[in-house]
Amino acid sequence: MVQMNRQETKYLAAVQAYLKGNPILSDAEFDQLKAQLKEEGSQFASSKEPKCYIDTGICTVTYQPDNFRNNLLYLPVGAILSIVWLALGFELIEPIIRINPIVLAALGAPLIYNGSISITDSFIFPNNKIVYGPCPVCETETRVYFGDILGVEGFGDVASVKCTKCKSEINVQRKSLRASTLPKND
Ligand SMILES: [Zn+2]
Repeated sequence: MVQMNRQETKYLAAVQAYLKGNPILSDAEFDQLKAQLKEEGSQFASSKEPKCYIDTGICTVTYQPDNFRNNLLYLPVGAILSIVWLALGFELIEPIIRINPIVLAALGAPLIYNGSISITDSFIFPNNKIVYGPCPVCETETRVYFGDILGVEGFGDVASVKCTKCKSEINVQRKSLRASTLPKND
């Protein structure tokens, strides 16, 4: 379910009208609306290209969720549960009836799937979210892990990391995935 605010609705309507050949906004109005949405970190007009503001020296870019690596977090518990399930299954069921290990694994799949999610989310990596994107200054790929690890508190709403290459400090917002550097003082 995607929630949109008024500006985003207007932006989408403008894009659709433009595609149909009867624009409802002038180019200038459209650019202004788009800039405003980017400023708010809207996913509709977010940009994957880093941008720097000359007046403040702040560089920003929008990061993306790293779903592949995020899913990998659930693998260790999933593997352990699978082994436990198969071992238990053979201990308990094998003496009674012969059962194909593939069938046994299939029977356990929903249990293992839900079990690994709930164990991982409650004990091992609570509130986990992995995002990635370029450093807003030098475009070195940067990954950020939000959430806790085995009871050790990690980043919450805002993650503050240092670029490995140019050492710029980057603040990443968990909600909007907006990454920005600090204003330059000099
Ligand atoms: Zn950098």
